Amino acid sequence: MAIKIEKVTSVKHWNDKVFSFCTTRSFPNKFNNGEFAMIGIQHEGKKILRAYSFASANHEDQLEFISIKIQDGPLTSKLQHIKEGDEILVNSKATGTLVIDYLLPGRNLYLISTGTGLAPFMSIIKDPATYERFDKVILTHTVQYENELVYKDVLENFNEQWNEVTQDKFLYFNTLTQQDWSRKGRITNWIKDQSLFEQTTQQELNIEKDRFMICGSQGLNADLMDHFESLGMEEGNTSTPGQFVVEKAFVQR
Ligand SMILES: Cc1cc2nc3c(=O)[nH]c(=O)nc-3n(C[C@H](O)[C@H](O)[C@H](O)COP(=O)(O)OP(=O)(O)OC[C@H]3O[C@@H](n4cnc5c(N)ncnc54)[C@H](O)[C@@H]3O)c2cc1C
Repeated sequence: MAIKIEKVTSVKHWNDKVFSFCTTRSFPNKFNNGEFAMIGIQHEGKKILRAYSFASANHEDQLEFISIKIQDGPLTSKLQHIKEGDEILVNSKATGTLVIDYLLPGRNLYLISTGTGLAPFMSIIKDPATYERFDKVILTHTVQYENELVYKDVLENFNEQWNEVTQDKFLYFNTLTQQDWSRKGRITNWIKDQSLFEQTTQQELNIEKDRFMICGSQGLNADLMDHFESLGMEEGNTSTPGQFVVEKAFVQR
């Protein structure tokens, strides 16, 4: 395992559950946008490493991560206290299934995330190749409460700020499950009753043309996989591209 030591360059606490941070990036450091690597810290002589998706794109000079804060979590109980200049361990081997190469070519690409499952998609939406392959790229983010909609301002202005990359093809759609909001409820319901498609691309779901990437809890992933398979869609993987790909945002221990 080639583990590199990076330095924290900035930290942002979004709320009491989630923070994000940037680090230096030493090369060689190769990853496909959407992949994850083992990262962590050295604590009392031991390395504590966990899977983290890159939230930065592979053409950027720095690395960015979005992290949960689990109060009794072996890693994040400590990681949440990092500050500028601290050291972060980053394994230079990245992997994962949320890579556009593992999808068949298509029309609309829907990126479905809950919680920190947003992270891999922050990388994918900054990749020019994403917009070369798809007509529209729709990022959905579902959380419980409004203050958990991390990067909301960035995403609402993404076409303006990343226009050379997105060419106005990007759409952002959020839903809340526990608070009154114009778009309330689980994203699975928005997909199953087709209202996601009406409210974003205004194009009915076409399984021959539309593609999905899913990154959420095991329950959400299983629910959507069942749904897409019931429609006759096939999951892609590293060897055979499909109509959708799935990755866990975290593992329930
Ligand atoms: C492929 C993959 C990619 C991942 N990418 C990220 C990422 O980009 N950002 C991130 O914060 N985590 C990510 N995780 C989860 C991460 O690996 C750790 O589990 C997390 O950092 C907590 O570590 P811990 O040691 O503090 O607690 P752990 O012992 O690892 O977890 C304790 C419990 O906390 C809960 N939990 C863990 N992670 C999360 C989470 N992200 N959201 C909600 N509940 C959680 C689970 O119930 C788990 O049983 C990813 C996991 C996988 C499998």
